[in-house]
Amino acid sequence: MPLIIKDEYPEKLFRDDGKRLDGRDKTELRPIKMDVGVVENADGSAYLEWGNNKIFAAVYGPREVHPHHLAKPDRGILRVFYRMTTYSVFERKRPAPGRREKEISMVIADCLRPLLFLELYPGTSFEVFLEVMDADGGTRCAATTVAALALADAGIPMKSLVTAVAVGKIDDELVVDLSGIEDKAGQADLPCAITWFNEELSLLQFDGNMNLKQMEEFLSLAKTALSEIYQIQLDALKKKYIEIQEEVSGGNS
Ligand code: UDP
Repeated sequence: MPLIIKDEYPEKLFRDDGKRLDGRDKTELRPIKMDVGVVENADGSAYLEWGNNKIFAAVYGPREVHPHHLAKPDRGILRVFYRMTTYSVFERKRPAPGRREKEISMVIADCLRPLLFLELYPGTSFEVFLEVMDADGGTRCAATTVAALALADAGIPMKSLVTAVAVGKIDDELVVDLSGIEDKAGQADLPCAITWFNEELSLLQFDGNMNLKQMEEFLSLAKTALSEIYQIQLDALKKKYIEIQEEVSGGNS
């Protein structure tokens, strides 16, 4: 599937057969693949491919806070570093973290913080590094989703996972999981995330225009998509433990 070429936006985002440009139906997700335990030197890690997006997540902690003055005497702190590699997009991205990456790191931290028991880890830090190797729309949602998996892989006590997806409007139709070109050439983009332990939204951003009825429809579409993605997260975690179990029972026989 070709990645987006900047400024070459098609006039229509639906084909004559009613499908989206990448062949999907309106409520269909791009193919998603997740694995955990992929970075040897991290306490926990995960890798995700979501359409053309490719993202690594590595988690370290609880560990000493650097620089020390950031440490909190009554709780641990969570730091998230979302970065896009220079080669992850069509036009070279400047290597230094820009405002967009700082904002996305902040919103992802806001999604992850409610999951953790930071009050049990005074004076320490949890650090989540998110490296976008290939980007094609929805990277903040994909990064949030894979970050939760890496935290779980690190064995950090968590209230639940968090899952994120973007829904949007293209050519006046509501669709799920916007690709890069749909994000840029569409009419609305609404990334959202749900924390499963309380079923609350922990991310809701909005860019574009829609009426209140469409907003309700959006949230209902998002809920269905989020449940589907949550299942893939759970399967990725279970896969690791099934493999360990098989290794152990193989070794005993
Ligand atoms: N993008 C890009 N260059 C940039 C930032 C973003 O080409 O410097 C592309 C990338 O494919 C990204 C998409 O634009 O996924 C949409 O970016 P946005 O800021 O809306 O965040 P995202 O949808 O990835 O969460």
